Amino acid sequence: MERHEYDVVVIGAGGAGLRAAIEARQQGKRTAIVCKSLFGKAHTVMAEGGAAAAMGNVNPNDNWMVHFRDTMRGGKFLNNWRMAELHAKEAPERVWELEAWGALFDRTKDGKISQRNFGGHEYPRLAHVGDRTGLELIRTLQQRVVALQQEDQRLHGDPEAYIKVFPETTITRLLKDGDRIAGAFGYRRQTGEFIVFEAPAVVLATGGIGKSYAVTSNSWEYTGDGHALALLAGAGLINMEFIQFHPTGMVWPPSVRGILVTESVRGDGGVLRNSEGRRFMFDYIPEVFKDKYATTEEEADRWYTDQANNRRPPELLPRDEVARAINAEVKAGRGSEHGGVYLDVSTRLSPEEIKRRLPSMYHQFKELADVDITKQPMEVGPTCHYVMGGVEVDPDTAAASVPGLFAAGEVAGGMHGSNRLGGNSLSDLLVFGCRAGAGAAAYVDKLDKRPKVSEESIEAAKAEALAPLERKTGENPYEVHQELQRTMNDLVGIIRRADEMTEALQAIEKLKERAKNTAPAGGRVYNPSWHLALDLRNMLLVSECIARAALMREESRGGHTRDDFPKMSPEWRRRLLVCTADPDGSNVKIEVKIQPSMRPDLLLLFERSELEKYLTEEELAEYDAAVA
Ligand code: FAD
Repeated sequence: MERHEYDVVVIGAGGAGLRAAIEARQQGKRTAIVCKSLFGKAHTVMAEGGAAAAMGNVNPNDNWMVHFRDTMRGGKFLNNWRMAELHAKEAPERVWELEAWGALFDRTKDGKISQRNFGGHEYPRLAHVGDRTGLELIRTLQQRVVALQQEDQRLHGDPEAYIKVFPETTITRLLKDGDRIAGAFGYRRQTGEFIVFEAPAVVLATGGIGKSYAVTSNSWEYTGDGHALALLAGAGLINMEFIQFHPTGMVWPPSVRGILVTESVRGDGGVLRNSEGRRFMFDYIPEVFKDKYATTEEEADRWYTDQANNRRPPELLPRDEVARAINAEVKAGRGSEHGGVYLDVSTRLSPEEIKRRLPSMYHQFKELADVDITKQPMEVGPTCHYVMGGVEVDPDTAAASVPGLFAAGEVAGGMHGSNRLGGNSLSDLLVFGCRAGAGAAAYVDKLDKRPKVSEESIEAAKAEALAPLERKTGENPYEVHQELQRTMNDLVGIIRRADEMTEALQAIEKLKERAKNTAPAGGRVYNPSWHLALDLRNMLLVSECIARAALMREESRGGHTRDDFPKMSPEWRRRLLVCTADPDGSNVKIEVKIQPSMRPDLLLLFERSELEKYLTEEELAEYDAAVA
């Protein structure tokens, strides 16, 4: 069996994984980057709108404190405030660093990195490259990896001496020595051969979970592997009930349902209308945001040219609000022909501007739906996009509760609270990718003895991976997957109810049994059916965590809306739900953990009147004490 020894193994080659690997290598650690897809293909590459960083290039009033406030508001104050603080403070530095490594961002007239508007951000804040920002981000990070490899060639005569990529390699188990991480086990997708990494530190950077839902902007890779690997290794997952349904996915034709329509369309002036032609978002401005959003079309339109004297258009409310509003319009019978609403930029920008600012959207609609967005509105509806929940980590080091395990990017939880603001993921993965790489390197430095991988744990991982192929008859993994996707979409979707979630949990129990009996056709060589049979364990585990946590949280907040508990409750804001499971994936449990109070200097960044909407009396007393 192929075996390798490293100091740090990074699972995932999106923005978080690459940034972590670069940091670990820069700290002198022998680092492996393992990814299930081809190198360069990750969700990060699909990111369109940009990376949020308070550089103040377009509006000099922007700074980390405003970004911090926006992020906390977007997450409805459930965010891990230390993560939100680090993120707001360090994002500009991480973006400038990318520029120094060769990233070519769009420019302002005076030559600075241009920044665009996005939902929930008070000022233009997203550093971007047209609507292909993720591509540039990944290109730059890959280029940096190559530069480090060239340095290693010069120094050690081997470009892969300190950093090596293992593409098309899927990790199926983390290996432990006692309570500590000792490595990872996986298979090569092309050959089906097994591979073992021995390493004291593993960084999870595997992204999200969207493939558990039928309508999603996510691609085949997002099967919640990192979430499940962490859970099975004994780490906790937090905030799993919070799933972001992006308000604007394509709805037609059916083959492309769910594919993302970037928020930049609204940031650059696009408006939402129902079948009656009404700009309906004015009807859905929630109480907590009333003073920040325009109440007339005239004011909203003026905002694009004069932001100092006008309030923002309600199309730029945080994503959870817009998604719920679209859902309500469709339910009320005011939807578009194919069950969405209309998003129109053609009446707002010239065709040339649209093609310049939104080139991917122009091509996406032209090629996939035969719609010319310079002349016609788009039909859009909510799509499962992002998971706010993930591995519970220490904010400063990205360390999980299992020694040697680290997590960054979408697989980590806490940073975005109950709802992520657009653009805050690319900056999150740069900030915490860097911190995870540094955290893993520091952990390795402190070890007096390297952990050992036991042969029994390798044999057990091998047996688990081979089990589906050894069954000659059984379930078709694709059918089990489709049923899970339908269950999650219909019963644990955008609007939730206790009876439906209970039904979902019963369905998941049955699907777990069926998944144990899958019999994929074919052998080990490039067999997607076998790969899916293995991924099912992860999707089912993650889905169970989502459904259990969603059933337990009896309030509505951000990406979790309960029909039977429609209000937000200050008591629930303090309660974080932490999922754990046994190493075989059974016995998924949820514990309530109380969110620590925000540091007084951060509390004082807000007006008391705003905090009253979110905090308990006890916490408000802390605010009063800080003021005094
Ligand atoms: P990813 O970039 O997805 O990388 C995950 C990596 O893990 C991949 O290399 C994958 O192959 C690997 N992997 C997974 N499982 C395994 C396994 N078992 N073994 C080995 N490797 C594994 N956010 C923004 O901030 N701004 C935007 O404009 C924006 N636009 C978006 C547009 C789209 C269409 C989508 C889908 C998302 C968008 N997002 C945006 C969200 C953002 O792109 C993602 O949240 C972010 O890129 C996640 O980065 P990551 O590094 O955590 O994971």
